[in-house]
Amino acid sequence: MDPESVLNTAKPTQIPTREEDPSSNQSTSLLSLSTEDPSSPPQKPTTTIIFIALLLVTCVALSAASAFAFLFFSAGKSAHPSIKEDQTARPLTKLDHPVVLLISSDGFRFGYQHKAPTPNIHRLIANGTEAETGLIPVFPTLTFPNHYSIVTGLYPAYHGIINNKFVDPRTGAVFSMASHDPKWWLGEPLWETLANHGLKASTYFWPGSEVIKGSWDCPKGFCMPYNESVPFEDRVDTVLSYFDLPSNEIPEFMTLYFEDPDHQGHLVGPDDPQITEAVTHIDGLIGRLISGLEKRGIFEDVTIIMVGDHGMVGTCDKKLIFLDDLAKWIKIPAEWVPYYTPVPSIRPPAGVNLSEVVAKMNEGLQSGKVKNGKNLKMYLKEDLPSRLHYSGSERIPPIIGMLGEGFKVEQKSTTAQECGGAHGYDNAFFSMRTIFIAHGPQFGRGVKVPSFENVQIYNVITSILNVPGAPNNGTSSFPRSILLPKA
Ligand SMILES: [Zn+2]
Repeated sequence: MDPESVLNTAKPTQIPTREEDPSSNQSTSLLSLSTEDPSSPPQKPTTTIIFIALLLVTCVALSAASAFAFLFFSAGKSAHPSIKEDQTARPLTKLDHPVVLLISSDGFRFGYQHKAPTPNIHRLIANGTEAETGLIPVFPTLTFPNHYSIVTGLYPAYHGIINNKFVDPRTGAVFSMASHDPKWWLGEPLWETLANHGLKASTYFWPGSEVIKGSWDCPKGFCMPYNESVPFEDRVDTVLSYFDLPSNEIPEFMTLYFEDPDHQGHLVGPDDPQITEAVTHIDGLIGRLISGLEKRGIFEDVTIIMVGDHGMVGTCDKKLIFLDDLAKWIKIPAEWVPYYTPVPSIRPPAGVNLSEVVAKMNEGLQSGKVKNGKNLKMYLKEDLPSRLHYSGSERIPPIIGMLGEGFKVEQKSTTAQECGGAHGYDNAFFSMRTIFIAHGPQFGRGVKVPSFENVQIYNVITSILNVPGAPNNGTSSFPRSILLPKA
């Protein structure tokens, strides 16, 4: 059997959707190192109505209070506006069709928007809709899996990009971030969905965008070949130039990607002044974009969705675990380990008892005799908590380790000093969260919504663009909880 057809059987038709899969909202991180609820469930419409009713009652009560008390309270969380029942989407004034511009700032950890004055990002927040405690990435919280989840609505096990680099166990073929063969890229990304329905898309960089799939042929001039040396300003200006095309040639969906502040985060960790500088630069680019759209009179018509792919955590504390330290319990040769950090993975040769490997490794890790051992727990992939959705693909190695926040696994003891930043860990860790900020005709102004997983974004965008979406892991009712209804 063709190895790809085996993998292909595991996707869209069999995808568990969020509505049928309440387990996806489990709240504890595996190592109990985080007390933060990782995935507030999207509000169901009835819940929302009750919530709004309670909010209105609260507001009435408040209006009877003294002015001082009102002002004091209005600084609090519960005074945030939410979508009102009588609000509807604002009509387009100049464009004759909706346009969604999806911007990714790589590694923009939730909270970075407060590291420096970010007047442009805050203009979008103040006049748009924000995930109040950040956007939840998918596991593993790595760049390629997450970017592709954002545009397909699928968890990595279903869209196939299960890591930034991995091996197809059947063919031995290696996927890297430069692989554009469609055999790797499962599911249906937004640009393909649009092309399949006769609409246009443009991609100024996005993982998977250069892959020819369905009706998407990566059109010249609208599908930029990845080149990290292109100045960010040029990227913004090219996207703006698409709005100067005749109306029927303006793409309905556009992407725009910046490598920062991920680049700096890896080098210096999340709390260095270099991050502040990078965030200030990104804010300036958002300002450049807003000003270009305003000059064209279309800022209020264009839907801007600004996200990141994951957060960042510092790794400067010698938080290392060495597999060779487990030798007393079980020898793990380097050939068994396709990936060390941040998703320690073991693929022993055929005939090795997988459960025994897991049991012996965990016995050693829990013994108290292995340095930092209690910050790594091994699982058969099918035993990982279902909220991680990280088992339904043969590409995922059979044994997966879950690491404590900021810890790293290496084969043998080293004197090298590790100091920088990393991501890829359990998506329950708050440090892995990123931003969701949306501004446009269908987003309420100054609205805060609970955190949600990035697989919900696909349905939000297809809903704004009135295009039927492909099957995915998002919840079909989610767009109604975040978008103003069309007038
Ligand atoms: Zn990234």
